[in-house]
Amino acid sequence: MLPIESSCVLRIGRLAVLGRRLTAHLSASVVLLFMAMTMAFPLTGCTTVSGTGRTQFNFMSREQELSLGAGAYQEELADAKLVTSGPQFDMVKRVTKRVSAAAEKLHPDATKGFTWEFRLIDAPDTINAWALPGGKMAVYTGLFKAAKNEDQLAAVMGHECSHAIGRHGGERMSQQTAAQAIMAGVGVGLSFSEMSPTAQQATMAAFGAGSEYGVLLPFSRHQESEADELGLFIAAEAGYDPREAVELWKNMGSIGGNKPPEWASTHPSDETRQARLAELMPRAMEIWKASKKKSKKDS
Ligand SMILES: [Zn+2]
Repeated sequence: MLPIESSCVLRIGRLAVLGRRLTAHLSASVVLLFMAMTMAFPLTGCTTVSGTGRTQFNFMSREQELSLGAGAYQEELADAKLVTSGPQFDMVKRVTKRVSAAAEKLHPDATKGFTWEFRLIDAPDTINAWALPGGKMAVYTGLFKAAKNEDQLAAVMGHECSHAIGRHGGERMSQQTAAQAIMAGVGVGLSFSEMSPTAQQATMAAFGAGSEYGVLLPFSRHQESEADELGLFIAAEAGYDPREAVELWKNMGSIGGNKPPEWASTHPSDETRQARLAELMPRAMEIWKASKKKSKKDS
């Protein structure tokens, strides 16, 4: 298997070859489109993930991701039935506040330009939550079937916002053939609402937003493990007991039925996930204890 850096360089190489082939064989309009795309996505697509240092291939700029994230958020919530008060709402609000502050502390560069927001969606059968670039988060009331307390909710929200911090949506768009529709739109400067329905759907699927089973794609194994790792430390920094993440994933594993791909995904397997969390736990416990000491001092 190629090291990540080499595969990243390889992808850029492939894009360059594609460009040369287009120039040689295709019509002028396609060449112009490709030029627009490469101007919009300069071939400096290797970026580093905050916190893990992993090199990823991502042709989207942070600004483009933030803009698409904001548009996708509006679209996704347009018809949603929202919960705007009550104990569950208060809990999501508290967790969002603490988790977002911790995320900004641990990842100041990666969260630059984020305007954190959350919505609690009334959907008791949907065991799901997601976060878009820019810190736009949504939790479905069904999630409380798996997240049995505030620490477990923090584990989920830490995990979800880590997909945004790790820029997993942009990375996924860069890997997909569906990306062509998005690139064509963004490349010529369209905002989310001006893009074609296909491009809009592909964008939301890549970001992991939405509730309908079958529309979403699971994140890759790499991205899931990375979100577990970053999320564990973010929740601990926010003062939530990291050991509850283990309980959360156990609860998630024991729920049957049609789970959305974010949880139904077979990778990482429950065993792999548990083993990895156990490996990371000593550091998470240190972060948690330091954060508790600090909050005691501050209060
Ligand atoms: Zn995930």
